[in-house]
Amino acid sequence: MVDWVYDELVLAADLVSGNGWTGVRAASPDAQALSALLRRGQLHEGEDLPANFRSPSSIQRKTYDLSTADEHYEGTPTRGGRLDAPIIAAFREDTAGMQARAAAIRAALEAGETLPAANDEEEPEAREGGILEHLARRRERDRGLRSRKIRAVLAAGGTTACEVCGFDFGVTYGERGEGYVEVHHIRPLHVTGATTTRLEDLALLCANCHRMCHRGRWITPDEVRVLLRPGG
Ligand SMILES: [Zn+2]
Ligand SMILES: [Zn+2]
Repeated sequence: MVDWVYDELVLAADLVSGNGWTGVRAASPDAQALSALLRRGQLHEGEDLPANFRSPSSIQRKTYDLSTADEHYEGTPTRGGRLDAPIIAAFREDTAGMQARAAAIRAALEAGETLPAANDEEEPEAREGGILEHLARRRERDRGLRSRKIRAVLAAGGTTACEVCGFDFGVTYGERGEGYVEVHHIRPLHVTGATTTRLEDLALLCANCHRMCHRGRWITPDEVRVLLRPGG
């Protein structure tokens, strides 16, 4: 059996939240549509998928697992996965936000995007945040966006030093580091629900602070700054 990844669970929990917080039947149009979408396998790059992978009945089973992991469920929970309870709790806490995230995941899959394989060394963190984090990181590497942001910062009298720790690649590495800095989305598109990036939503960061923003749950540069230790 192929483990359900985060994005798949969000899509299944989305059906639960839209169905009075209960599971959906295999024969329902929602279960059929989600099965067809997930069976394309874009969230399981490079894996061997069994013939019954994410069949409509497996969608039914997972949505009932999720609904019985809900804190409002009064019976005995079915045996679901480790992420079932936190994901259904996230939908209870911020229903509209999580439904928007589900819509963005669905749109990415329908557009043919794939989640990098588990052994992709370029994006060790992408799998944790799912396909939306992968897309956001790809957008952050967009050279045009990066140079627009840097031009705007310089025009406003700023520098390309890291906004969190002040590290300046040019100062430390001389000519080789001159002008190098990474661009980070403070509020990624899957959180804001926006479709275009505003320059003020981008931060200039050194490679270390940038990695700390993305490690595990996505945190803001301000949150990383709080973690900085003097002399560390
Ligand atoms: Zn830094
Ligand atoms: Zn980033």
